[in-house]
Amino acid sequence: MTRQVKRAFKYRFYPTDEQTAELSRTFGCVRLVYNKALEERTQAWYGEQRRISYVQSSAALTEWKKTEELAFLSEVSSVPLQQALRHLQTAFGSFFAKRSKYPRFKSRKKSRASAEFTRSGFKWREGRLTLAKMAEPLDIRWSRPLPEGAEPTTVTVSRDAAGRWFVSLLCEDDITAAPATDAAVGLDAGITSLVTLSTGEKIANPKHGRRDRVRLAKAQRELSRKAKGSANREKARRRVAKVHARIADRRRDFLHKLSTRLVRENQTVVIEDLTVRNMVRNHTLARAISDAAWRDLRMMLEYKCAWYGRELVVVDRWFPSSKLCGACGTVCGTLPLNVREWTCGCGAVHDRDVNAAKNILAAGLAVSACGDGVRPQRESSRTGQSSMKQKASPARVGIPRR
Ligand SMILES: [Zn+2]
Repeated sequence: MTRQVKRAFKYRFYPTDEQTAELSRTFGCVRLVYNKALEERTQAWYGEQRRISYVQSSAALTEWKKTEELAFLSEVSSVPLQQALRHLQTAFGSFFAKRSKYPRFKSRKKSRASAEFTRSGFKWREGRLTLAKMAEPLDIRWSRPLPEGAEPTTVTVSRDAAGRWFVSLLCEDDITAAPATDAAVGLDAGITSLVTLSTGEKIANPKHGRRDRVRLAKAQRELSRKAKGSANREKARRRVAKVHARIADRRRDFLHKLSTRLVRENQTVVIEDLTVRNMVRNHTLARAISDAAWRDLRMMLEYKCAWYGRELVVVDRWFPSSKLCGACGTVCGTLPLNVREWTCGCGAVHDRDVNAAKNILAAGLAVSACGDGVRPQRESSRTGQSSMKQKASPARVGIPRR
């Protein structure tokens, strides 16, 4: 069985000087529009308890373009500016639905520079992509082919901190469902192991190669020696960003392989909802890295489960998954974080993480049996691919006793 899904294909490209200037200007305008609309919505909400809709923001944008100081907004394609307002709308939607924090301002330095073009913002002819306001098509390096006869519906252009340019094409693609299986797996997120499976397997975060570590240390040392604001400092900053980008690329690659494997091997994948746990703040670097990896993994599992006809169940983390004995259902009183193994009164000896993964699986299977907890997700304008995603909201269930 095959199903048609929306899938993003990302490539590097090399802009001409003219394109670089046009895109840099567009990124700046996108950021400005996003921030200005966010500011207005914030003032309306906190000042007058009034919500501003996308339509109102869009009307405001038209007014801004008429003013002298913001007239330059008319010089770039209007499509990415409209898309920025849609993204803001989506961010507020998640905030009001308590799925995420209050939207933040886009920073020139810290936020990823990007612009999204819908069908009216680009031309696609015989495999050549030309963006609005541009004379020449983009010089794209086709590292893998687009699906036969694919027509991109949305195009996102971005530049990362290392100064690399990327274009992501959202296309329809046919996906063949994975072979049928009854297998199910529960995943526990951790710090020492990135993921522990209910099968007992522990998957570590990918280690950075020695070469990357040495390069990063050297680049960072150089950066610290350069004078603030100098051209050499900017060059040094790029070199640091390049090593970070390599590390991030490798991690993403690793997570893609892991998520594909889990989805192919299992009919049901159960994960825990970490947004609850993240309310308890832990600012260590290890925590931040594993949280980021976990977010990426969850996102990949969401759309891959939808692609391959698998079920992803998200269970709420309110239950004490690591303290609950999977054998008898007793909850152990206290279990400090440094205790990796414990023995229950019933005699069962538990590895903390494996036990947690097993409890997550059991809770997930209980939800799945009720036919609750998995609902189609709203279309997200950012990726477009989530129309097939499964509902990410936690299923509130009790703990099955055995
Ligand atoms: Zn027990």
